[in-house]
Amino acid sequence: MKNIAIVLAGGSGSRMKSTKKKQYLLLGDRPVLWYSLHTFQNCPRIEEIVLVCGEGEEEQCRREYVEKYGITKVKKITHGGKERYHSVYEGLKTAGDCDYVLIHDGARPFIDAAMLNRIFEGLADCPACVVGMPVKDTIKMRSAEGYVEQTLPREKLWMIQTPQSFSYSLIKRAYEELILREQRSSKQETGAVKITDDAMVAETILHIPVKLIEGSYDNIKITTPEDLALAETLAGYYRGKE
Ligand code: C5P
Repeated sequence: MKNIAIVLAGGSGSRMKSTKKKQYLLLGDRPVLWYSLHTFQNCPRIEEIVLVCGEGEEEQCRREYVEKYGITKVKKITHGGKERYHSVYEGLKTAGDCDYVLIHDGARPFIDAAMLNRIFEGLADCPACVVGMPVKDTIKMRSAEGYVEQTLPREKLWMIQTPQSFSYSLIKRAYEELILREQRSSKQETGAVKITDDAMVAETILHIPVKLIEGSYDNIKITTPEDLALAETLAGYYRGKE
């Protein structure tokens, strides 16, 4: 069985308001990106890692984030595209044929071996599995005017994280169709359909069930400067567990 992790580091991180992209910032003495690469490197069920970085960053990534830390499972580095889903598509093409792909945001450092095991258990039953956690807050929809439009039933709501994991052939087919549709119409560009995760591609294009797997409340995506202070604390805890 050949399983590949696709780690995305091709975003610009404009919400971080930092000159350095968020995935390359240091947490303790290691870059944000190192944490998930290290977890995949140590997972026996992952054979290879494909790293998707920004255009022109390939060599720097190889030197500073892969070779420097001995992440030998990174066999291929490619560059991403304008939106996250373009970067995923590049990652899928670069990965090549395999059984399962685990698509992961490089900006989420705190995945662990137990979570990866839960994902593989899920994949044995269902070819599309994503990690997430039940929301803690009440979630409301806001109208354009800034008023509450609707309160959603909290007991049914989960916040979705990565890794998002799929049978390679299924998700590759779904992404090919998505890109084809994008080329045919300008819908993606105008934002009429905003694709924010991989499960959406499986749901809307393949119409297949996607199984929710327990992630972790620590599995935060480093997005804004406030996230960094929390991530520093969690990083100390994670390094302590090694
Ligand atoms: O922008 P967002 O926070 O949703 O990004 C999630 C992950 O996807 C990050 O790790 C980011 O580097 C990656 N990404 C990418 N290519 C893009 C946009 C985001 O690889 N065009």
